[in-house]
Amino acid sequence: MGVALPELQFTPLEEIPSTVSTARKAFLEHRTRDVEFRLVQLRKLYWAIKDNEEEIAEACTLDLHKPRFETELAETGWMLNDIVFTCRNLHKWVQDEKAADIDLNFKLMNPKIRKDPLGCVLVIGPFNFPFQLTLGPVIGAIAAGNTVVLKPSESAPRCAAVIQKLVESSLDPSCYRVVQGGIAETQALLAEKWDKIFFTGSTNVGRIIAKAAAPNLTPVVLELGGINPAFVTKSADPRLVARRMLWGKLVNAGQICTSQNYLLVDKTMVDRVVEEFKKAYKEFYPNGAKGSPDFSHIINEASFRRLKSMLDNSKGKILMGGTMDEKELFIDLTVVQVDSVEDSMCTQESFGPFLTILPVDNLDEAISLANGVSSTPLGIYPFGSKAEVEKIISSTRSGGVAVNDAALHVPTLQFGGVGDSGTGAYRGRASFDVWVHRRTITTSPGWIESILAIRYPPYAGKIKIFQAASALVPDFDRNGQKLTFGWLRYFLTLGGGSATAGAGRAAAVAASE
Ligand code: NAD
Repeated sequence: MGVALPELQFTPLEEIPSTVSTARKAFLEHRTRDVEFRLVQLRKLYWAIKDNEEEIAEACTLDLHKPRFETELAETGWMLNDIVFTCRNLHKWVQDEKAADIDLNFKLMNPKIRKDPLGCVLVIGPFNFPFQLTLGPVIGAIAAGNTVVLKPSESAPRCAAVIQKLVESSLDPSCYRVVQGGIAETQALLAEKWDKIFFTGSTNVGRIIAKAAAPNLTPVVLELGGINPAFVTKSADPRLVARRMLWGKLVNAGQICTSQNYLLVDKTMVDRVVEEFKKAYKEFYPNGAKGSPDFSHIINEASFRRLKSMLDNSKGKILMGGTMDEKELFIDLTVVQVDSVEDSMCTQESFGPFLTILPVDNLDEAISLANGVSSTPLGIYPFGSKAEVEKIISSTRSGGVAVNDAALHVPTLQFGGVGDSGTGAYRGRASFDVWVHRRTITTSPGWIESILAIRYPPYAGKIKIFQAASALVPDFDRNGQKLTFGWLRYFLTLGGGSATAGAGRAAAVAASE
């Protein structure tokens, strides 16, 4: 390819406060309130990405040896679709919502929910899908009307520099700013006040972000890693398991947050699954993964050494692969059979091309082992009969579930972790929702003053009216059991207190808040 790429230059620390205050000032001047302004930004970003597809691909190749197909699948194509989807829906999403689930009387106050932008927000990106996972949250933040400072990962330096070029060549510089750097620059950013911080990265750094946000009560979205189990029961199809699990580890050489960390395989299935892994590998990489343009490399020496020591410290048996080349940051797809969840292959997120198999006696043991791992996974991947899959889903927790698959996520469905794998979600409509405050607005018309007057002192003689007004009639008894004709009681009381009580309830609630 040989496209000339911009060079990454860290932002001088002393420039960071003024960069942030530029973006904050633009928000306070209401520059991003206008929906048409936001749409113009998104459309311009679309064309910046489209017109720089070669740079994006080249940067991904140089930083990660990412195959062109994977760049199209998970970087360029993903972002372009994300922008088109957002632009198509934005007018609908920004509409005020009529408040639901309210009593007739409150309807007089015309309650509605406005989707207010949060303000000036910070996005911190990871290295593995550097474009999608840094610009993805930014697309939502722009759509929702925030001003944004973004900090790409310094671990993918060419990609970080191209991200800056895309932003600076297409977006309004007073509203959207890039800060480049590593730990020191991120710390300087975290010292500023934000209206929300959106972080994608490791659980350890996630803790640092949450701590830094706490003094200012800044809300955070944390999209973190996961020690994700796959379940292979007696009824699973070993060929399907092998092809799909191999795919989950070959994309980006397993450097995906949603990729499975270990497979809990029914012991009667282990040999057949391993056999199928070998067949699938041969089919996907007839000449081996080494030297193949269809296989990424490990991001840097530090990650390579971490992965190597994970394998070196394992008590497991290598059944396939195991080849490594530090100079080329290459690690082959490697199947390892271990006998304990305490093995080094299971205790940490591998974030590399390791397929760890832990044989189990039965499904109950698999579920108990998965639940015994201290961290809540980002994804789980069950293979088995319908009943087995349902049992797995209903007795575990995770950010998401892909039945009969690995690492699959439908781009427009909400995505996010739970517990240790993160908090908050985005993608599709959720990418807009995560960046807005749902602001309740009521308007009490002057003509209901005589009804509202019940809330003003003197209170004497009003308490009974309040009680009659505000008491919803329960449709359950003291033992927590539902009453047989609860619905009838509800109907007879017009959904709660008496019909005349409505305004009184409104007043009571207004007085109590
Ligand atoms: P990382 O946590 O090392 O770095 C992420 C960002 O944090 C980078 O921009 C980096 O500059 C910054 N950072 C690093 N150390 C910091 C510190 N001490 N103080 C402040 N900022 C710091 O993560 P990574 O290596 O880029 O990405 C891999 C991790 O991210 C994996 O754990 C993976 O599972 C997770 N991840 C999660 C998702 C998701 O959507 N849930 C997606 C991709 C990656």
